[in-house]
Amino acid sequence: MLMAKSILVTGGAGYIGSHTVLQLLLGGYRTVIVDNLDNSSEIAVRRVKELAGDLGKNLSFHKLDLRDKRALEKVFASTPFEAVIHFAGLKAVGESVQKPLLYYDNNLVGTITLLEVMAAHGCKKLVFSSSATVYGWPKEVPCTEEFPLSAANPYGRTKLFIEEICRDIYSSDSEWKIILLRYFNPVGAHPSGYIGEDPRGIPNNLMPFVQQVAVGRRPALTVFGTDYSTKDGTGVRDYIHVVDLADGHIAALRKLDAAGIGCEVYNLGTGKGTSVLEMVAAFEKASGKKIPLVMSARRPGDAEIVYASTHKAEKELNWKAKYGIDEMCRDQWNWASKNPYGYEPPKSN
Ligand code: NAD
Ligand code: UDP
Repeated sequence: MLMAKSILVTGGAGYIGSHTVLQLLLGGYRTVIVDNLDNSSEIAVRRVKELAGDLGKNLSFHKLDLRDKRALEKVFASTPFEAVIHFAGLKAVGESVQKPLLYYDNNLVGTITLLEVMAAHGCKKLVFSSSATVYGWPKEVPCTEEFPLSAANPYGRTKLFIEEICRDIYSSDSEWKIILLRYFNPVGAHPSGYIGEDPRGIPNNLMPFVQQVAVGRRPALTVFGTDYSTKDGTGVRDYIHVVDLADGHIAALRKLDAAGIGCEVYNLGTGKGTSVLEMVAAFEKASGKKIPLVMSARRPGDAEIVYASTHKAEKELNWKAKYGIDEMCRDQWNWASKNPYGYEPPKSN
């Protein structure tokens, strides 16, 4: 019998990471998570293990910070990894503006340390979490992978820099095989309602905020901008179900086995644009809850309309998103209603 391949997943306790780890386990991979739990809970890891049933035995977890090179070395010394999926990073745009050095240190130093340790152990296959934020305010849509890149804040700059670092290391050593995945707007949760997104503090993103309004944790959603040149004046984004996104990573891993992959970039989105008001309406329908709205000014730095061209991923990764916004909202609500306070309910309330 063939030995199952071992995949290292950095940030695997987080929102996208936990869903991807589950799909990896179900796909027969052995999976090792490293995460410092800075923005996540070990309960997520436990639940992924349970959801995977018998295959849960193929999951192990190390609480460590990627910048701790010695600790990371030990993990690589104990397991020969086929590839790394690198999610670990800080992702709050506003915080990155307030604390740029924290973001550069965590995201850039963390990634450089990871790449050094990978190279030292002869593991040169990487899938990296980039973001549609690298398209800035796109001049036209859909965004294709060839569009010019820009960054509006330190968070976005860390994604741009890491993409460039990956292109540089491939130029310097063609043994590397790297796939940069530019995610559009991941939402929803696993249909079991057992794992989902559990942001710390006030959510920055639309759907976690909507979810907290629905369960009564916040009084109303502030709609940022009602005067965009869109169908109803509110911003348009490409929302993608997190399980579809997770499956995109399995497709990327398979692609890493292809000859001559080099350093490639793929959009992961649905190719469909949805406005804030359309998303709220879909969530109200799925949950039966009314979401009170406060119409407000545009959020600085926000683009008007962003959605993906999905042709490259469909053609070359043989992957296509299956779910629409009704399923995204159904699963988001299922998770939220079962876990109104996320993984760890507040100690006093
Ligand atoms: P998340 O915060 O839920 O997960 C990131 C995980 O990384 C967390 O569990 C955190 O504890 C861990 N982490 C952070 N810094 C670390 C470090 N130095 N060492 C070890 N672990 C560390 O975020 P997510 O939504 O799952 O995002 C995963 C990746 O995808 C991130 O790189 C993010 O920038 C990127 N991304 C996310 C979105 C989105 O909207 N969620 C969109 C585009 C790209
Ligand atoms: N948005 C909003 N209220 C919020 C959060 C977001 O109206 O509390 C809008 C935002 O202006 C954008 C869309 O929802 O048009 C998606 O925002 P999000 O932050 O989730 O994603 P991003 O802007 O990073 O693509």
